[in-house]
Amino acid sequence: MTHDTGSLHARHRAVMPSWLSLYYAQPLELTHGEGRHVWDAEGNRYLDFFGGILTTMTAHALPEVTKAVGEQAGRILHTSTLYLSRPMVELAERIAALSGIPDARVFFTTSGTEANDAALLLATTHRRSNQVLAMRNSYHGRSFSTVAITGNQSWSPTSLSPLQTLYVHGGVRSRGPYADLGDPEYIAACVADLEDMLQQTAGGVAALIAEPVQGVGGFTAPPDGLYAAFREVLAREGILWISDEVQTGWGRTGDHFWGWQAHAESGPPDLLTFAKGIGNGMSLGGVVARAEIMNCLSANSISTFGGSPITMAAGLANLNYLLEHDLQGNARRVGGLLIERLRAVAAGLDVVREIRGRGLMIGIELVRPGTDEPSPEAATLVLEAARERGLLVGKGGQGGAVLRIAPPLTLTVAEAEQGAELLADALRQTQRQLADASES
Ligand code: PMP
Repeated sequence: MTHDTGSLHARHRAVMPSWLSLYYAQPLELTHGEGRHVWDAEGNRYLDFFGGILTTMTAHALPEVTKAVGEQAGRILHTSTLYLSRPMVELAERIAALSGIPDARVFFTTSGTEANDAALLLATTHRRSNQVLAMRNSYHGRSFSTVAITGNQSWSPTSLSPLQTLYVHGGVRSRGPYADLGDPEYIAACVADLEDMLQQTAGGVAALIAEPVQGVGGFTAPPDGLYAAFREVLAREGILWISDEVQTGWGRTGDHFWGWQAHAESGPPDLLTFAKGIGNGMSLGGVVARAEIMNCLSANSISTFGGSPITMAAGLANLNYLLEHDLQGNARRVGGLLIERLRAVAAGLDVVREIRGRGLMIGIELVRPGTDEPSPEAATLVLEAARERGLLVGKGGQGGAVLRIAPPLTLTVAEAEQGAELLADALRQTQRQLADASES
């Protein structure tokens, strides 16, 4: 077998946008996967601790999904929202029922960015306002509209915006001005900030969009109940709540099927967006909204391609699998164990500032040893060291100093233990490297 990953990289550079960034000094070419493992073009096998959040929510090459996709591909691929499609209606019915939103309607898209774009179109049209609130440190995509609600400069390719956006506190606490507050005081401070923001607008804010756990932002979760407190304030003015569940949906956070349920006192959101994992690798996203909001558009469609039969077949098979196998329960159990293991192995490593998470969504914040300074350098070193040991992890957070761990939801206890060992070893090596570098 000949491997030309190096030249593929050169071809990528020559033909693709310069801003399409790749992980690793020698980028990885993945050729196939099975369960929680993937292989590269050189035949190296990796335990995948990141793919679950990217697209492979359940497992790589899940036979049930592969079979459903193959059968559908053999029947009909062609579609458009102009024709009736049985799998589209079936999946919409299932998601509407699961969403918790009363009188729910579902529109399918091909990505999370597009789902948020559709949610913004609906919310701003319904409210006749282009003023939107978003969370600091948020990530919702980088298209022309979603970049306007993504609250971190380094993820924003343009400052031009079709929306008027104000960013509120509550996304990330550990390094903000409210870092030292306890939960009730923190919630009160964020609510006061929100009220202050509303005072500053000319009125008629359309919506607030939030991730229940910030994903790209470094897996930071607000205290339970924060968003319920926000909802109370917003409800006074009829401002809509959009829950971006692209990373938190389908049971990943363990205790809940949707992230918004950690703040459930105020009931379901007005709009909910989802994507990535539900297609288990197929391009499937969507927006769910109450009928009065969804139906406020006078349009034939937003896009004709969302909800193609093949993505719907994948979504249905994947949804059935994750419900039948209680993968939410697995995320709670195995995620709980993994976080415990990681905390145990990281004790005594001063490159680790914090290990946090919910279910199978775990963040490890890294600092320059002996300081409280975020260390993107450490994160890059750990990524490389983990790869050498056969483990893939992600990174994120402000400045890229947080390791993101989001394995497929079928992760076993043995795999969690093995991954924790590999990661511990990579962290130890990184700490040594950083110490050597600072001595020399
Ligand atoms: N919302 C959230 C919370 C995300 O994490 C992402 C992707 N990282 C998106 C939206 C955009 O989704 P996509 O990449 O499918 O367009």
